[in-house]
Amino acid sequence: MKNWAVENGATHYTHWFQPMTGVTAEKHDSFISPAGGGKIIMEFSGKELVRGESDASSFPSGGLRATFEARGYTAWDPTSYAFIKEGSLCIPTIFCSYSGHALDKKMPLLRSMDEVSRQAVRLLRLFGDTATKRVIPQVGPEQEYFLVDKKLYNQRKDLRMTGRTLFGAKPVRSQELDDHYYGAIKPRVAAYMRDLDESLWALGVLSKTKHNEVAPSQHEIAPIYSDANTACDHNQLTMEIMKKVADRHDLVCLLHEKPFAGVNGSGKHDNWSLSTDTGRNLFNSGSTPSQNAQFLLFLAAFIKGVDDYQDFLRATVAFPGNDHRLGAQEAPPAVISIFLGDDLGNLVTSIINGTEYEEIGKRTLQIGVDSIPAIPLDNTDRNRTSPIAFTGNKFEFRMPGASQSVSGPNIALNTIMAEELQQFADILEESVDFQADLHRLIKRTFTEHQRIIFNGNGYDDAWIAEAEARGLANLVSTVDALPLYAAPKNVDLFVRHGIYTQEEMAARAEIHFENYSRIVSIEANTMIDMLRHEILPAVSDYADQLCQRAFHKEAMHIPCEYDRSTAKELGRLTDALMAACSKLEADMAQKPADTISAMAYCHDVIIPDMTQARRIADELETITARKYWPFPTYSELLFSV
Ligand code: ADP
Ligand code: MG
Repeated sequence: MKNWAVENGATHYTHWFQPMTGVTAEKHDSFISPAGGGKIIMEFSGKELVRGESDASSFPSGGLRATFEARGYTAWDPTSYAFIKEGSLCIPTIFCSYSGHALDKKMPLLRSMDEVSRQAVRLLRLFGDTATKRVIPQVGPEQEYFLVDKKLYNQRKDLRMTGRTLFGAKPVRSQELDDHYYGAIKPRVAAYMRDLDESLWALGVLSKTKHNEVAPSQHEIAPIYSDANTACDHNQLTMEIMKKVADRHDLVCLLHEKPFAGVNGSGKHDNWSLSTDTGRNLFNSGSTPSQNAQFLLFLAAFIKGVDDYQDFLRATVAFPGNDHRLGAQEAPPAVISIFLGDDLGNLVTSIINGTEYEEIGKRTLQIGVDSIPAIPLDNTDRNRTSPIAFTGNKFEFRMPGASQSVSGPNIALNTIMAEELQQFADILEESVDFQADLHRLIKRTFTEHQRIIFNGNGYDDAWIAEAEARGLANLVSTVDALPLYAAPKNVDLFVRHGIYTQEEMAARAEIHFENYSRIVSIEANTMIDMLRHEILPAVSDYADQLCQRAFHKEAMHIPCEYDRSTAKELGRLTDALMAACSKLEADMAQKPADTISAMAYCHDVIIPDMTQARRIADELETITARKYWPFPTYSELLFSV
C-alpha cells in the first residue's frame, strides 16, 4: 500500500473515519522516518495501517467517553478501498473508544450488514441455496445539490453560517415553468460536472448519472450502486469533493436540505437492495416458482419491518434541515408508507384475498416452491410522492436529506430487515410442511401489514387523514420524531441484534437532541446579527433617503407621494421588524439549558419568532431599492450560474 501510495505522489497517510458529526475526519502523518546519517526513508508499518490512536476529546461522544479517557482508536476497515487524496493515503477506519464503544457511523453499519447477512442466509438455505455465503446490502444514493456563484454566496452571512438563506422574498420567477428539470446543462455547470466526475473517478468513486433537477440551479449526481459500506464512504467523499471542485469553479455547492424557501429542497434518495455474494438480487422476482416464493418472502419481511419500525425510520431522517422539506409538497410526507406499483400491489392484494390473480391465469394463487409462475413487474415508477417506493428490484427510501450521511438510514434498513428475516427463519426452520407454512406466513404478513402499503398521491391531504385512520405515525417534525429514536422497543431491537449497545444508543440520541437546538440557535443568532447589522440599518438609510428626497421635492412643489408613502411604509415595517428582532433576542436569552427542554423550546418559541422576523424582512425587501438591500436576492442567487 505504501509503495502504491508513494508511486502516486503520496507523502502522508491518514486514518479516515466518520465521527458522529456526520462529516469525515482525518489526521495526517508523513511516511518520513530518520535513517541515520541525516537521511530519511519512507516507512509505513503494519501496525500503523491497522490501528491508530488519536486525541478525540473534541468529537461528540454523547457522554460515551468520559473526558479523562480522551483517546479514541481507529481500526482499519479492509472492506472499503483505501484512496489517495491530496497527497495522503486515506485508510478507511472505524472509530471507537477505549472501552470498544462505537464513536462513529461505520462500525454499526458494518455490524448491521453482518447481521442482515446472517439472517438472510438462513432463509436462503431453506430454499435450497447452498452456494451463498454472504448476503450484501447494496446502496446507491442519489445526491441533490445547488450551485451558486461564490461572489454572491460570500455576501450572504446566512449561507456562510447556516448553509441556507434565512431571508429572501420570493423571486419574480422560480420553478413555475418546469423548464429546468432534465434541461440542457449550462456550460459553467457542465464544466463543474465534468471536473467533479473526473475527480471522483480518480478516487475510485463510480459517479454515473448527472442531470438538472426541478429548481433553478439544482442538480443531481448518482453513483453506480455498491455494498452499503462502500456506498456510504463514497457518498461522504462525494460530498466533500463536490464542495472542493465547486470552489475551483468559483461556485459554492449547497448541500443543505432547504437553501431557499419556496423552492424545492434537496434530498438524498437511498436506493437499497440485498444481493448474494454470487451476484443474485433478492428483490428480483425470479423466473422460477421457487425464486418467486423467495422474493415474496423477502418482500413480506421488508413490508413488515417498515410497518413495525416506521417510527424509527422516521427518526433516522429527523433533523432541522429536513424539517423544511418533508411534508412540504415537494418531498415525501412525514408519514411513512410503501409504494408497490400496480403489478406488485395487485399480486399482494390477491394473496391477501386468496383471489385469482389475473396476470397469471385464472387460478387461485398458491405460493410455494413449485407454484406461482413468473411475476410480471412494471418497474417504471411514476409515483414520486412516496417515502419508500419499490422500483423493480430495489427500494428507494426518499426521505433522507441531501446533507446527511446515509449510514443511519441504512443501519436502520439492514437491522429492521434482519429482525424480520430472523422471525421468519425461526418459524420456517421448524416447519414440517414448508410449502403450506410458507404460503401461510406470506399471506398472514401481507394481511397484517397492508396498512403500510399506499399507491396513491402522498401529497394529498386526504392521505394524511387516511394514514392516521390506518394508525400510521405522522411525526411531523424532528421534535416529534427524535424521541422515538430512544423508544424502548427500538433500543431493544438494536441491542438484541448487536448493532448498538444500550449506551451507544443513548449517546446517539443525546447527540441528535443537542444538535437540534444547536442548529436552531446558530440560525437564530445569525438572523439577529443580519437584522441588527445589515437589514435594519439598510432600510433605515433608504427611508432617510426617501425623506430627504420628499423634503427637497416639497420645497420645490414637486409631487412626492411615492417617496412619502414608501418612507412611511418602510418606517412601519422597520419598527415591526425591530420589535420582532428584540423578541427573538429576548427569547434566545431564556433558552433552557437541558437538552430536551431546549429542543422543544427552539421548536415552539424560537422558530416561530424567526418565521415572524423573516416575514417582515421579506416584505421590506420587496419595497426597498435594490442598491440599498444589503445582500444578493433570490433572483440573483438562483439565476446567476
Ligand atoms: P432515478 O432518478 O430514476 O431514481 P438514478 O439513476 O438517478 O434513478 O439513481 C438510481 C440509483 O439506484 C443509482 O445510484 C443506481 O446505481 C442505484 N441502483 C440501481 N440498482 C440498484 C440495486 N439493485 N440496489 C441498490 N441500488 C441500486
Ligand atoms: Mg435520480
